Amino acid sequence: MLLDVKELKKYFPVAKTFLERLLTREERYIKAVDGVSFHMEDGEVFSLVGESGSGKTTTGKLILRLVEPTSGKVLFQGRDVTSLSKEELRPLRRHMQIIYQDPYASLNPRMRIGEAIMDPLLIHGIAEGREAKEMVLDMLERVGLTPAETFFDTYPAYLSGGQRQRVAIARAMITRPKLVVADEPVSMIDVSLRASILDLMMDLRKEFGVAYLFITHDLAVAKYISDKIAIMYLGKIVELGRARDLFKNPLHPYTKALLSAIPVPVPGRKKERIRLKGEIPSAIDVPPGCRFHTRCPLRFDPCDKEEPLLVEVEPGHFIACHLHS
Ligand code: SF4
Repeated sequence: MLLDVKELKKYFPVAKTFLERLLTREERYIKAVDGVSFHMEDGEVFSLVGESGSGKTTTGKLILRLVEPTSGKVLFQGRDVTSLSKEELRPLRRHMQIIYQDPYASLNPRMRIGEAIMDPLLIHGIAEGREAKEMVLDMLERVGLTPAETFFDTYPAYLSGGQRQRVAIARAMITRPKLVVADEPVSMIDVSLRASILDLMMDLRKEFGVAYLFITHDLAVAKYISDKIAIMYLGKIVELGRARDLFKNPLHPYTKALLSAIPVPVPGRKKERIRLKGEIPSAIDVPPGCRFHTRCPLRFDPCDKEEPLLVEVEPGHFIACHLHS
């Protein structure tokens, strides 16, 4: 097993106003991630899908320990990332990389493209000098930035959004990682270029055997690339399964609503859209019972009192809903 995430939690304390400090001692927390568990195998594409505020990005950062967890464990190749010191963590970092959403903010404007991609090789002591440059030129070719020599000396300001994201992918891949957390890597790219970036990521997966933890709000994107999908809502996974099972037989009312929003590609075939009422509630005041009950069209008696557990209803297909418990 490559990655084993166990009951991961992240509560951010809420800053109090002066008046609140006088009136109450009670601390309040944003429960961004509230007991998330899943595992990934080598070379797998696992998507975390949910609306903004579902906790998916924080989960990705916790796994890479870019954010400290409140509790829980993250086992990467059997080692608990959450308990390692900074020195112990450093050699693991070359195997755990990240691609950020914003290709404009993720590159240093004063660094030439070649230097930006070479940086991880130097930091991790993998290569230097001529050897490092050859590796960078080779990677530029692989991600489709040719002629590589020209791109090596170019500054990010001269690149399009799609080209910048190719640079970000090259930089993540140059250390030959085992796991890449890709946080909405195509959401800020022109729609016409998205498929080519996803195809590039899938080609690199085949070539290097890398696993992706793919974070997205877009189920259509997740369907295109994933082996497994977990649907997150308000800091918890509500449904998890193989991508084909989830699309063929979605069980959770929230998953069904998300799926109903994907356009049907068959002309003449209609699909009824399930429109959810209201916004996702605040992660400070999480609703009691099932946290989806305030928006669920199928809620019934126990839903606002008892929290449903994530249970396996068929092999590899898990759901947290009283309708299936
Ligand atoms: Fe809806 Fe109840 Fe299931 Fe929650 S537990 S998703 S409220 S039916």
